[in-house]
Amino acid sequence: MNKEIVDSITQYVKNYQELKQIETDWRDPVIGFAAAKDELFPKLKEIIGPNHALPSDLIPNAKSVITFFIPFSKEIVESNIPEEESSRKWDIATIETNNLIADLNKFLFETITAKGYKASLIPATYNYDQEKLISDWSHKSVAYISGIGKFGLHHILITKSGCCGRLGSMVTDMELTPTTRTDEEYCLYKHNGTCKKCVKRCVNHAFQDSTSVFNRKKCNEQIYDKIIREYPIGIGDTCGKCMCGVPCSLVNPRARD
Ligand code: SF4
Ligand code: SF4
Repeated sequence: MNKEIVDSITQYVKNYQELKQIETDWRDPVIGFAAAKDELFPKLKEIIGPNHALPSDLIPNAKSVITFFIPFSKEIVESNIPEEESSRKWDIATIETNNLIADLNKFLFETITAKGYKASLIPATYNYDQEKLISDWSHKSVAYISGIGKFGLHHILITKSGCCGRLGSMVTDMELTPTTRTDEEYCLYKHNGTCKKCVKRCVNHAFQDSTSVFNRKKCNEQIYDKIIREYPIGIGDTCGKCMCGVPCSLVNPRARD
């Protein structure tokens, strides 16, 4: 069943640009699976906050979590390297990828429920808490548990296809084989203390002491206060400068070792 789901998601993403006649193109998605009973899920309540949901809060008798990372094309990533403000291409890609994730979720929901199983519908941005600046379903933490990546110094998940893209996830009571997590770090700084290019690329001093101390408010100030832009298809509230033009933008930089 894992392969069927991987193939369906991959095909859906491949066809989406033509189907919707939109600008954004993507590389192949990276897909992983976690057991709903994985011991790391309850730990998210300690690490992120007591309101972080368990898979069983979203689907009774949950068995598995499906996670997917949808990487932007190289061209989109490169468009966001120059200047202080995010590129138009990057903004549009973010909006169109959120739409893709919403449609992909519906497609997966229908595919899974048609087989007689239950599935959740979780938006790409889920129950964002404006006060605490945390969400109660962290796609990136769930993606880590599902074995598709490791966190970089920039606090973003790095997958085998880099960090530039969007994440989505779904809970189901279908039994799926979990993806094995690796102990290896993908981030060069976490591996051997080198790189730190993401820190140097930050346009709003969100990394206070030039290391891993991350000031989320500074980051959000850049995204939501300084550069919000309106497009006919939605609001461009992005930045992503720390993710572009760095060794982990498009690949796992350790894969070259
Ligand atoms: S830019 Fe370098 S230090 Fe920053 S997350 Fe990527 S690999 Fe790690
Ligand atoms: S998204 Fe922008 S403001 Fe936030 S850490 Fe990255 S570069 Fe800095």
